[in-house]
Amino acid sequence: MVFSCRQCGTCCMFLGDYIAIEEQTGPFSFACESVSTGTPFIAEVDDDKREIFRDHAFPDAHPHACRFLRPDGDLLRCTIHRDSPPQCKFYRCVALRVSDKQGRSLGYVTGALALHSEDPELRSAWNEAERGRPRSDEDAEPWIAAFLRQKGFRVE
Ligand code: SF4
Ligand code: SF4
Repeated sequence: MVFSCRQCGTCCMFLGDYIAIEEQTGPFSFACESVSTGTPFIAEVDDDKREIFRDHAFPDAHPHACRFLRPDGDLLRCTIHRDSPPQCKFYRCVALRVSDKQGRSLGYVTGALALHSEDPELRSAWNEAERGRPRSDEDAEPWIAAFLRQKGFRVE
């Protein structure tokens, strides 16, 4: 499945403590740190998002959200899309969607290869897959998809 971000902003709503602004260095420039990896980065607000960035009502109302997240119509958008750290750029909330043979959704697997499902059969197959999967996530993703298909699940 080719992941397409819907820009719902859900994944950024609680990242305020992880994308830290150390210093404002210009009207739209910031020295930041990606706290989970301890990586510093410089971010400048994207040219086309400066207008929405100026409005601080959203971050004031959502203190746990990333400071760079802003509403834009129906979307919640990252205003430093160009300069956001790699873990933001490569984040995929859904890597695999799993359903039964009738197409009934049973759960999904995140880009970090965590299963979100309450279905006992899928959970049991997942546990088996976890024990046999290749070590690297890159190799594991197609391997797990094939394993679950072999067990009779639909995987997209
Ligand atoms: S990665 Fe997923 S949760 Fe995050 S904004 Fe995109 S669709 Fe929403
Ligand atoms: S930098 Fe952008 S993508 Fe990363 S958490 Fe903040 S708003 Fe989300």
